[in-house]
Amino acid sequence: MFISFDGIDGSGKSTQLRLFSDWLKATGKTPLLCRDPGSTPLGEKIRHLLLDTNEASIGRRAEMFLYMAARAQMVHEIIRPALEAGKIVVVDRFLLANIAYQGYGGYLDVKKLWDIGRFATESTSPELTFVFDLSPEVAAERISRPKDRMEQQGLSFFQRVSEGYRIEAKKHPGKFFLIQADRPEEAIAAEIRELYQEKEKSMVPK
Ligand code: ADP
Repeated sequence: MFISFDGIDGSGKSTQLRLFSDWLKATGKTPLLCRDPGSTPLGEKIRHLLLDTNEASIGRRAEMFLYMAARAQMVHEIIRPALEAGKIVVVDRFLLANIAYQGYGGYLDVKKLWDIGRFATESTSPELTFVFDLSPEVAAERISRPKDRMEQQGLSFFQRVSEGYRIEAKKHPGKFFLIQADRPEEAIAAEIRELYQEKEKSMVPK
């Protein structure tokens, strides 16, 4: 099964991804964890370009293609082989993040981004996506480390991104689940485990 955790920075997705994968391991499973962008040698280089450096200016379209390129490599090198081997793959962000950030946040055409994304990922998409919903103000307060290049964009950008996540989540019920992220960690973790178990049951061939 392929599962992704998505949402704005500071929404708690990495915390929950960790809790979820620890729980999977405790039940005897061996999930493969990835982060998008990243996880492959090429993807990590692109991640560095996108997030950590201010050396080169990156326009919105180039930025979008860099994310797509990193993801294409991760799908080709890691995700597809793992899924074909029957593994559970859990990824910190996926194509939906491109849609929310560069589409809704950056005003690029959302439908085109889905098309480019499907091409880049060979139509590999998570069966289950947890979309962490938290107001950008609260999310920003939670981040104590220095902000990366993407995080340095203004509040109105993040409001559009957040709204984009909500719009897309509503368009894909049964696949994208909006998680109210302003609750205690354990309550969120329990909801995620439940949604996973329901999905797992629905995927067992009858
Ligand atoms: P993200 O991966 O979405 O950027 P993190 O999981 O790194 O978010 O969480 C950002 C910060 O918020 C961390 O300091 C984390 O401990 C804290 N945090 C995570 N989940 C919660 C929660 N449910 N309530 C309050 N704070 C949280």
